Amino acid sequence: MKYPPSAERARLSEVFSSLQGEGIHAGERHLFVRFEECHIHCRYCDELGKPGEERNLDALLAEIAELEKREGPHRFVSFTGGEPLLYLKFLKPLMQRLRERGMKNYLETDGILWPALEQVIDLCDCISMDMKPSSVTGEKNFEAEHEKFLQIARRRETYVKFVLSKDIDIPEFERLVAVVKRTAPEVPVVLQPLSSEREGHEDDQLMKLLGELQTLALQQVQDVRIIPRLHRILKIR
Ligand code: SF4
Repeated sequence: MKYPPSAERARLSEVFSSLQGEGIHAGERHLFVRFEECHIHCRYCDELGKPGEERNLDALLAEIAELEKREGPHRFVSFTGGEPLLYLKFLKPLMQRLRERGMKNYLETDGILWPALEQVIDLCDCISMDMKPSSVTGEKNFEAEHEKFLQIARRRETYVKFVLSKDIDIPEFERLVAVVKRTAPEVPVVLQPLSSEREGHEDDQLMKLLGELQTLALQQVQDVRIIPRLHRILKIR
């Protein structure tokens, strides 16, 4: 990492209140804490390169308390990024302190860093776990890591999210759904459209493809939902 965290300090790119725009909790009011860095580089990423600034744990907790008072109640504090689990040293005490205040922790993650998840799993109230097909991300294949991650994540409320473009390799998609089938067949699977030309749900061809992928996935697992990004439809942060 360029700026490794300590238990007291980490670099964040934003702290704000909004509607959750993705996944099975879309539409709820969440308080977002966005970490700056990631350990991979998806070719479609719209978060990397957002400049961050160093925050002290106590100052962040005060800011969260203020936002909760002004714009809450929030259903969850959502840790997002970047990759929050890269910030384990800082994330763990942060989650502990929020728990002590009665808040709920929601982890948005790329679903790869399973040893770090093991350290905070009991502090997570919900996990939004990505599965990253290399045909879409341009990254390496993380099938083995995703399987180990999901074995741990399923102890809490969890869903699996696929961000899918027309680049998806269908056999690769089926192999990743098979990971869900053999590891945690009860968890919901969310298909989120991604288009390079426009917002994903506005791309008719892509939405048709997602319908076909949903049919394929339903042959292996029982809860498969197509959910576009609500915050982009509503044009909010
Ligand atoms: S895992 Fe998320 S933050 Fe990291 S590069 Fe991919 S899209 Fe960006």
